[in-house]
Amino acid sequence: MSRPVYELAEIIQRYKTSFTAKHQPLKQHLSVLNALEKCRTAALGGHVDACDSCGHVRISYNSCRNRHCPKCQTTNKERWILARQQQLLPVSYFHVVFTIPQELNTWCLHYPKQMYDLLFAASHQTIRTFAGDEKHLGAMPGMISVLHSWGQNLSLHPHVHLIIPGGGIAASGCWKNAKSNGRYLFPVKAMSMVFKNKYMQGFLQLLKSENKTLEPSLRETLYNKSWVVYAKQPFGGPAQVIEYLGRYTHKVAISNHRIQSIADGKVNFMYKDYADGCKQKQMVLDATEFLRRFCLHILPPGFRKIRYYGFLANANSTLLQVQQREMEVAAIPAKEVKKISWKTIAKQKLNYDADLCPCCKKGTMITLLHFDANAPPDIEFLKAFSELIKAKKA
Ligand SMILES: [Zn+2]
Ligand SMILES: [Zn+2]
Repeated sequence: MSRPVYELAEIIQRYKTSFTAKHQPLKQHLSVLNALEKCRTAALGGHVDACDSCGHVRISYNSCRNRHCPKCQTTNKERWILARQQQLLPVSYFHVVFTIPQELNTWCLHYPKQMYDLLFAASHQTIRTFAGDEKHLGAMPGMISVLHSWGQNLSLHPHVHLIIPGGGIAASGCWKNAKSNGRYLFPVKAMSMVFKNKYMQGFLQLLKSENKTLEPSLRETLYNKSWVVYAKQPFGGPAQVIEYLGRYTHKVAISNHRIQSIADGKVNFMYKDYADGCKQKQMVLDATEFLRRFCLHILPPGFRKIRYYGFLANANSTLLQVQQREMEVAAIPAKEVKKISWKTIAKQKLNYDADLCPCCKKGTMITLLHFDANAPPDIEFLKAFSELIKAKKA
């Protein structure tokens, strides 16, 4: 696995102090930055492995496991994909994106939990409304819903991605294909209207409960606007769905590979300009501004950013299993997927064998010792020892 040259952790290390002085971030945001900064450094402890054949020594530091960390998502993502693969049906799949207008951004910053909960609720209820209507489908739909709060340049751009099988389970228990033999979901314009109304209803309720009022002009703008609901081309087949999902679900606001340089208080990073034919461009931001934008995307503690609805909800797993049996789909039970070790996942999915010696490519790496944050071993000594063994063998 190639390592990116620049990392978010370095930006945090170098500019956290000036960022904090300038923007006074929330305590919770600071603690996320602190975790990310320490990820895979001696500050989190770790373990030492040695090769049983050539004596090569490898020091591994523990990872922070924070869900906002760009370094910590890979095996989580692969395990998640494996679990989702077990829920597939041999039908068409759709990808629908629901976006709320940017006029709501300020509210999202002050009430992230409530505003994002509303986004999940309004979008899935919209799909349920259309699916329940005999005119459109007349069956229970299934949905996997993923929240993203960012646009390409790290600005606030809250939207949810919904992956929806092209049909549903009718009251009779039988599968019912969406229109045109599963190739057409629901009319986008009509969905957009229903979505707007559902969201606004919830939003006005929220304001009431918080004793806030909405400026009449803003209210008018929100109602007059057409809200963006975007239905992408249907997927070719279940295999593509999974691949696609993987790219979306465990993403964080910025991946390390996009960072081009960190120098003189500036961060240079790549972004895709959707307004200009999806061209790859570079953007330069003050490091403090970069960190401010990154923090816009830190979710409230415990907030679930991936949710499942309809026949894909946990509560309906039996319904899904019956459907899979009927469609002759073989699946590994969720319990079994959970038991697969990260080493197996890394080996099968990432082509990385943690047990194989990276030096001689023959020996097996054996763990010599674990160390905690306060007691790192004498690394120079270990390395010298390792060289000694290698020299003796040669
Ligand atoms: Zn991490
Ligand atoms: Zn070796």
